[in-house]
Amino acid sequence: MEKRREDFDNYEDYENYRRRRREYIIRQKVARRKKRIRRRIRLLTFEILILAGVVLLAVKLFGPSKTVDKREVALYDAAVPAANTTADKIEASQKSTEIPEWIVVNYIDEGNPSRSGLKLDGVNNIVIHYVGNPGTTAEQNRNFYNQPDSNVSSHFVVGIDGHVIMCLPLDEYSAASNHRNHDTISIEVCHEDTTGEFSDEAYDSLVKLVDWLMERFDLEADDVIRHYDVTGKMCPLYYVEHEDAWEQFKADL
Ligand SMILES: [Zn+2]
Repeated sequence: MEKRREDFDNYEDYENYRRRRREYIIRQKVARRKKRIRRRIRLLTFEILILAGVVLLAVKLFGPSKTVDKREVALYDAAVPAANTTADKIEASQKSTEIPEWIVVNYIDEGNPSRSGLKLDGVNNIVIHYVGNPGTTAEQNRNFYNQPDSNVSSHFVVGIDGHVIMCLPLDEYSAASNHRNHDTISIEVCHEDTTGEFSDEAYDSLVKLVDWLMERFDLEADDVIRHYDVTGKMCPLYYVEHEDAWEQFKADL
């Protein structure tokens, strides 16, 4: 409550009081203005942050998307762990762009039980299998893996006619070699009859495919093994029953 002249004994006191009161009111005004300005700055900062967020989101949603060839990425990932020096990296990335034209790439759908998507720890062996279903084609076997209720798959299927289908990226698990799925590349080979012997065309393609993989993963012929060597399963049948044929195959690599 503001005091009046009557409340003071002399005019000087009253004037002093009035001066102090004016100063007090001015200070109050300044304080309120400062407070308003601070609040406005806070609000503005908040608005700028929201706007930046919206812009970032819009760019992410509607901006130019990077279309990277999945095949190249998968191969690059598979090739890179071995790369230590810059020269190695360049070589690996150059290699990564090459899938020989004689390989048909037709990956199993992502999310299928036979494609876990798990990444290989490395590639320590190449495991050879036979499909065990005489007369079936590479496509039929690949499509079999791709069924929603299939839990088997391999990286490659080699047809009786010698053509090669790639069913999985080289850095992912296949579901073929039991406890060795985590560090192996698997190849299933089609065959004409119950002996499980490979046709000449399949055999030649298999040699070509394994040679390519051995070079890519820096492996020796002795790193090429049979499913039999993993679990004792009679697979690939003919090359378990005929040890000499298996030794000859490795010699042909
Ligand atoms: Zn097998």
